[in-house]
Formats: sequence, C-alpha cells, structure tokens
Amino acid sequence: HADIAMYSAKEKGRNNFQFYAPRMHERAAKRLRLEGDLRRALERQELTLYYQPQVDVNTGRVVGAETLIRWQHPELGLIPPSEFVALAEETGLIGAIGEWVLRTACTQAKKWEQAGLGKLRIAINLSARQFSQPNLLRTVQSTLAESGLDPSNLELEITESTVMVDVQHTIRTLHELKNIDVHLSIDDFGTGFSSLSYLKQFPIDVLKVDQSFVRDITTDADNAMIVMSVISLAHNLRLQVIAEGVETVEQFNYLKENKCDQVQGYYFSKPLPADKFERFLQQDLPAEA
Ligand code: C2E
Ligand code: MG
Ligand code: MG
Ligand code: MG
Repeated sequence: HADIAMYSAKEKGRNNFQFYAPRMHERAAKRLRLEGDLRRALERQELTLYYQPQVDVNTGRVVGAETLIRWQHPELGLIPPSEFVALAEETGLIGAIGEWVLRTACTQAKKWEQAGLGKLRIAINLSARQFSQPNLLRTVQSTLAESGLDPSNLELEITESTVMVDVQHTIRTLHELKNIDVHLSIDDFGTGFSSLSYLKQFPIDVLKVDQSFVRDITTDADNAMIVMSVISLAHNLRLQVIAEGVETVEQFNYLKENKCDQVQGYYFSKPLPADKFERFLQQDLPAEA
C-alpha cells in the first residue's frame, strides 16, 4: 500500500510539475524582463511621481500631498507601485529609486512654495529596506539642504509592519529623523499589529488609518468602531490622524463627526501628475488669494 501511495504521489507530482512549469517559466521570464527594464528606468526617466491631496477636515483646505510613484513603461504602459516596488526592494534598486523620489518630491514642494501655492507638507513612502539603510538620515539631510525645503514640510511614511521589523532600530532611527524636525507618520495603521506600548516610544506625528477600515465605515459597525478607536487613541497620544481611501461623502461625514484631522481619497482627488495637482491647488486657493 505504501509503495502504491508513493508511486501515485510521484505521478501526481510529475503531472503537477508538467502542468505548472510553463506558467512558472512565464512568470520568471516576465520578472527577469521587468528587472532589466527597471534597472534602466531611472536613467531613461520613466519613473514619475503622482501627488494626492490631503485635506484638512475642518477647513476643507489642501494641507499636504502624498507622493506616489508610477512607472511609465514604454511598452507596458503605466505600472503601479504594487507591481515593481517589491522587485526594487529585492534587487536593491530601491536605494537609487528612493533617493530619486525624495529629491524629486522635495524639489517639487519647494517649487510650489515659491510659486505661491502655499507651504504644503509633502509625504513620501519609505519601504522596509529604505528604512533600514544606514545612510537614510544623511540622505534626507542633504536632500533637504539641496532643495531648500524646510524639514517640517517633509513627512516620511513608514508602514506599521516596517516599524515592527526591528523595534530598537525603529526607535533610534525615528528619533534621529525627529531631531532634524522631519514629520513622521505610521502608514496602514491597524494592519500590522504593532504593540501599543511601542507606539508611545515612537516620536511620530501622525497615524494613517488604513483604507481597509475606512472602506466600509458606513456599512460595517465593527470597522466604524475601529476607526473611531484609532482616532481617540491617536488624540490621547497627541498624534494627528489621517484617514486614507475616503471615497464617499458618507465616509467623510463619519470621519468629520468623529474628529479625524485629515482625509485623503478619491472623494477629493485621485493621485495626480504634478501639473494637474498644481491646477487642483489653484482651484483650491481662496478667491482673494
Ligand atoms: P500607501 O502608501 O498606503 O498609498 C495609498 C494607496 O491607496 C495608493 O495606491 C493610492 O493611490 C491609493 N488610494 C488613494 N485614495 C484611494 C481611494 O479613495 N480608494 C482606493 N481604493 N485607493 C486609494 P498606489 O499609488 O498604488 O500605491 C500603493 C502602495 O505602494 C503605497 O501604499 C505605498 O506603500 C507604495 N508606494 C507608493 N509610492 C511609493 C514610493 O515612492 N516608494 C515606496 N517605497 N513605496 C511606494
Ligand atoms: Mg503611504
Ligand atoms: Mg497606506
Ligand atoms: Mg498601503
């Protein structure tokens, strides 16, 4: 019996292998191609930044923007970060790409400030590998100096799962960044199971409530309660709260009633290329300005 079982497992295994091999090969080939293309994307200027407005709930004014990377691939079209940021991390390309994002975003924010569009706070996303790079502080400092952007106008977003990778490293790094006056936020809050006792040791300014909770606050009582609790937790720790993924007026009203500070989502605007974001800002300026 044992022999028969082994034999059929082998047979099955072989069949599975034959069945999956072409698809695995296809996927590996696609990855290899993307990796090669990504290596050249920076010098070919195919990477581009989109900006999504962050709106103050009480004044309705745009107070910041989150920078979101896109890859304008010559044949494959516009590729979202979900399809290449992990690859950039695995290949180490994230170092150069991350520095480009930081430099481009800071320069852009300074340009908007000089054009009289207001002192926006520009937020950029740091992936786990970027956050663990020993030259992070120096890179941030020199980029701020070169662009002339005030450090308090730069916000660095680190996901809740990234901060939990190595908590001692996180506490040290966040303090170094806080010392130069950069704003710090925890992204995707609520998805990473961070310990609340660590949270108060992180010198952060903002919690960003993950969009998975925001999505159905008006239909799912549990998620509504979670969002409400995160808001009061943040306020008790003297942090601001930004809700992401706000798509409807009902979601916005709930967040406003529950004293959320800022909101971001398709209800206000999708992420926009720089020129369109600029036009969005101009519409937002009060008439007398
Ligand atoms: P994230 O930082 O949590 O960004 C929020 C994501 O939600 C963005 O997706 C944004 O386009 C999307 N979003 C905004 N408003 C809405 C809404 O109302 N409804 C829905 N359904 N989605 C909304 P995106 O641009 O595809 O970025 C995905 C993730 O990729 C980001 O999540 C961030 O973790 C990462 N990422 C983006 N840009 C960069 C970057 O420059 N560097 C690094 N390391 N990661 C980045
Ligand atoms: Mg983010
Ligand atoms: Mg997020
Ligand atoms: Mg996310």
